[in-house]
Amino acid sequence: MENYYQPEIECASREQIKAWQDERLVKTVKHVYEHVPYYRNLMEQKGVSPDDIKSTDDLHKLPFLTKDDLREAYPYGLLAVPLEDAVRIQSTSGTTGRRVVAFYTQHDLDLWEDCCARAIMAAGGTKEDVVHVCYGYGLFTGGPGLNGGSHKVGSLTLPMSSGNTERQLQFMCDLGSTILCCTPSYAAYLGETICERGLQDEIKLKAGIFGAEAWSQEMRRDIEQKLHIKAYDIYGLTEISGPGVSFECSEQTGMHINEDHFIAEIIDPVTGEVLPDGEKGELVFTCITKEAFPLIRYRTRDICVLNRKPCSCGRTHVKMSKPMGRSDDMLIVKGVNVFPSQIETVLLNKGYPANYQIIVSREHNSDKLEVQVEMTPEMFSDKLDEVSAREKELVDALKAMLGIYAKVQLVAPKHIARSEGKAVRIIDKRNLY
Ligand SMILES: [Zn+2]
Repeated sequence: MENYYQPEIECASREQIKAWQDERLVKTVKHVYEHVPYYRNLMEQKGVSPDDIKSTDDLHKLPFLTKDDLREAYPYGLLAVPLEDAVRIQSTSGTTGRRVVAFYTQHDLDLWEDCCARAIMAAGGTKEDVVHVCYGYGLFTGGPGLNGGSHKVGSLTLPMSSGNTERQLQFMCDLGSTILCCTPSYAAYLGETICERGLQDEIKLKAGIFGAEAWSQEMRRDIEQKLHIKAYDIYGLTEISGPGVSFECSEQTGMHINEDHFIAEIIDPVTGEVLPDGEKGELVFTCITKEAFPLIRYRTRDICVLNRKPCSCGRTHVKMSKPMGRSDDMLIVKGVNVFPSQIETVLLNKGYPANYQIIVSREHNSDKLEVQVEMTPEMFSDKLDEVSAREKELVDALKAMLGIYAKVQLVAPKHIARSEGKAVRIIDKRNLY
């Protein structure tokens, strides 16, 4: 059995990684140009040919792909191999509009499972472990990805799939599961149930690999405490392969992107311009080793930061932050990019519930940003000086986060109108479009 902690790849020098990326990008662009008329058209519209792409330094010349392109090309328009060479389809949950389908050759499945195996190894997995996978199986990539990765590590794999908590807990106790793979919300639920039933001493879990939804540091601590484990983050998306595009190591300060397979860029979501490392913007991926569905410059809509500081684990692959929001939600106020998630972070840090409304208006050609925030019943007070001191504290914290002034108005609990249980977050009165 191969060892999927691959120091020669995961700890390679930056020069080596660039050399791999240069060579593989050139090859992938030729492959796609020759086999995917949809992308060839996009390249021709932009006046760029495969000969213009000599290294990763030329990546910025290539056109982007978006989710709209995937929908337009549904189902076979971006397939880059004859259908007879594809062996698997996975699909996104498709909450709106057409689903997105992604194709895999056997080679693509191997690479994807390698990436998941690396994630399991980074969480301390070995062939001695019992890996309990309760992500959904089927079209969703969570279950099949971690399942394949666990096989590669040589761990005993429990393909539990989601739901049926009774059976999950029984197998977890009886078979001594040591690594749990599921969504963070299900991990938190399992943790609560285990505590309620006093099963803490019956379970042998040591680590968990959690992804496919957003989760906070607070939730991480809660899961770690209740399950007595170290909780690791994993990131991926079906369009690019599935979970394992990036994963956390023991340092837990961001997720290492598998740069021998994927090139990551951060762009300004409005202008499309590539931003330097360390700046926040939209994450874009280019696949450089896939055969069937090698997307080039795919815009994820996830807002992230890349970090190339040396990591204590020894891995040299770039780390991405947890996504901090979606570029679709971004507002531009006084020329500054503002994400609702930044405002939410400030509120949660200061102990407010995440019930707020952002109101943007324009007076005399100048943008005004106002945030209305519900207080908790405990905070609610008739004393005006107490309320204004709280408002001042939030104004300062928001200024530190956003870099611009936002007026803050604290309002009574349940003051902000909710439609279908959810508050309308953004009211933009500027009529910009
Ligand atoms: Zn690391």
